[in-house]
Amino acid sequence: MFESLSDRLAGSLKDLRGKGRLSGADIDAVCREIRLALLEADVALPVVRSFITRIKERAKGAEVSAALNPAQQVVKIVNEELVGILGGETRRIEFAKNPPTVIMLAGLQGSGKTTLAGKLAKWLKDQNHTPLLVACDLQRPGAVSQLQIVGERAGATVYAPHPGTSIGGGDNALGITAADPVEVARAGIAEAKNKHFDVVIVDTAGRLGIDEELMAQAAGIRDATQPDETLFVLDAMIGQDAVSTAQAFQDGVGFTGVVLTKLDGDARGGAALSVREVTGRPIMFASTGEKLEDFDVFHPDRMASRILGMGDLLSLIEQAENVFDAQQAEDAAAKIGSGQLTLEDFLEQMMAIRKMGPIGNLLGMLPGAAGMKDALAAVDDKQLDRVQAIIRGMTPAERADPKMINASRRLRIANGSGVKVSDVNQLVDRFFEARKMMASMAGRMGMPGARKANQ
Ligand code: GDP
Repeated sequence: MFESLSDRLAGSLKDLRGKGRLSGADIDAVCREIRLALLEADVALPVVRSFITRIKERAKGAEVSAALNPAQQVVKIVNEELVGILGGETRRIEFAKNPPTVIMLAGLQGSGKTTLAGKLAKWLKDQNHTPLLVACDLQRPGAVSQLQIVGERAGATVYAPHPGTSIGGGDNALGITAADPVEVARAGIAEAKNKHFDVVIVDTAGRLGIDEELMAQAAGIRDATQPDETLFVLDAMIGQDAVSTAQAFQDGVGFTGVVLTKLDGDARGGAALSVREVTGRPIMFASTGEKLEDFDVFHPDRMASRILGMGDLLSLIEQAENVFDAQQAEDAAAKIGSGQLTLEDFLEQMMAIRKMGPIGNLLGMLPGAAGMKDALAAVDDKQLDRVQAIIRGMTPAERADPKMINASRRLRIANGSGVKVSDVNQLVDRFFEARKMMASMAGRMGMPGARKANQ
């Protein structure tokens, strides 16, 4: 799921990396790529259009940010817009003030309703709720016993009519026949009230395609049970049909939320990206397999970063924005460009970065870092402590003009900060090398203030 979309998006954004400045043409090119990637992933055309328009507008008018380079800003904008089309905030079940909370499941046959009923029941039980499953899919042969099986697995009670008999025995007072799903639903709610179940999950029948009878039955169950949540269950693998199916259910029954199932399949993912925008209803849960555990609350932000395939680069961007003082970063950038970075600036930058957490963690957030575990483990915060201690052992004049740090000063600094002279030598030498390298990189990237490196 999302793999090819992910690859394509990451590929188009990667082209921006290393660019100090983005031209309008760069933005147009990346938007073209993103558009193709989305269309290829089966995202509905109107959704693609409005998405691209928003990205373009925002990228072109992007605020000048000292903490982020333009390429990072585009990644950030694409991510925010992806989160937006996936629904923004995570939407959770709204439980009724007066239990039981009624949750009705609707969707095509085979979309995964019955399986979902079991998953939801387990999920609710794990949160100390007492769900009752009500079997109103009396159409599909075996649906009732399937619900009984998943209910048992989830450790939840199932309320179901015995095939061919009336509820509660042949001659109960209600005289309900098992063939009427609306009556089963009503009786299920009554049962939940009597026996103090606090959530009722109503499994309904689906058809292979949309038809009026199906909609009428679902609407009948809805009217009889007055659900607090109606969840439209959508098989993510049905591709472009997802949008029309969702619209048909919205018109015929109405729903408060969407559950995407079969996200473990190799579908292209367009359904996930279109359904919220097209129906205006949030995706609430995601199902990723046949087992009861393969299920979770849907988090738009996590899904977006998964689609972008940027690892935790996005959280790194966020943290960088929070930690870096804009003016300070701008000053440092100008000094880097002109080759005038001092050890004092270096110390400040290092401390700003270290405020974000242990350095190994930070590197671990970079995409592709997963394969570099050993190297990361070797990054030692103690080494950085030592660097900090050495710089602190210098006078302000030495920090501002490291060239004045001669042999006798090096000895004094080493003694003062409890390290060997060779450690001080190493730090100073590396600093000069790094300063030279950064200045020439800044020149190549067209950073403001950059000029030929002069050490
Ligand atoms: P219903 O007709 O809507 O009740 O659908 P079912 O719950 O019977 O599901 C139809 C088929 O899809 C069953 O074989 C399920 O095991 C399978 N299924 C349901 N959800 C998922 C899922 O998230 N991933 C995968 N791979 N299979 C699923």
